[in-house]
Amino acid sequence: MICEYIGDRGSGDPGAKLMKYRQLGDVRLRRVVESILTSPVSEMFEDAPRELWEPHFSWLCPDALDKDSWQIHMPMQSYIVQTPHHNILVDTCVGSDKRLPLRPHWDRADHSAYVRALNAHGLRFEDIDYVMCTHLHTDHCGWNTRLVDGSWVPTFPNARYIFSRTEYEYWKKNPTAVYEQNVLPIVERGLADMVLGSFDLNEFVNVEPMPGHTPGHCCINVRSKHEHAVITGDLLHSPIQCVYPEWRNVWDWDKPQGAAARVSFMERYAETDSLICTIHFPLPSVGKLRRAGKSFRFRFDEHDW
Ligand SMILES: [Zn+2]
Repeated sequence: MICEYIGDRGSGDPGAKLMKYRQLGDVRLRRVVESILTSPVSEMFEDAPRELWEPHFSWLCPDALDKDSWQIHMPMQSYIVQTPHHNILVDTCVGSDKRLPLRPHWDRADHSAYVRALNAHGLRFEDIDYVMCTHLHTDHCGWNTRLVDGSWVPTFPNARYIFSRTEYEYWKKNPTAVYEQNVLPIVERGLADMVLGSFDLNEFVNVEPMPGHTPGHCCINVRSKHEHAVITGDLLHSPIQCVYPEWRNVWDWDKPQGAAARVSFMERYAETDSLICTIHFPLPSVGKLRRAGKSFRFRFDEHDW
């Protein structure tokens, strides 16, 4: 169901909320922010010496990097792809009440601000038709479920949940608290559809495997009327990776493969009109890739949405 009001800027309706979107052909892209995480640089990059960052302080600081505390800032957020027929939620952040003792800052956290942000777009849990996860890490599948009377139940009761079979099989063999809280309850209720390889959900949305960060990590392509956007999941965490895509990421399952995927992604999309929709770059988190000598830069979207 398409929401009944689209309260974008300048609608003239004093009752409309000012939640904005980005039009892409016949599709609307929306962002739902759960929180902004601050994390030490050393917990994200294996070897990224400060002197390599310093020439870029002028455009990285303060939004992407706090150079004094030496920490990066990363939004936790979802995208909503609104086609003429469906509301598709891509990545579902950390969620509320999750038992995450290895991540004390997220353990049993109250992230109900996410629900209010979703509602501000005119959407309820029931309005989501599909949930897609680029991968099954803590901060990308949390709202798949919510805690009701001591049990984890699907948050989006009318949705089919689209998982990469490769990703699902990996976590099934290596189960974690995240798998047990966010994935298993969906599969047990028969709400999951497993997909393998490149998969077209419909004429607008395609799942593209891009392994490295995790075995079944995917990017989500959105196409309409010759326009293209790609939701990158955790292929990228900070705009500094446009300058140094070869840097190894602490959280990559296969570090050389993760780095190679970033390098080839930069080559593929540099100087194109493709809208790069990251999860963790500072807001608005989306933009286009441009060449800068032998390297690349991220030019943030001029739209305020
Ligand atoms: Zn992430």
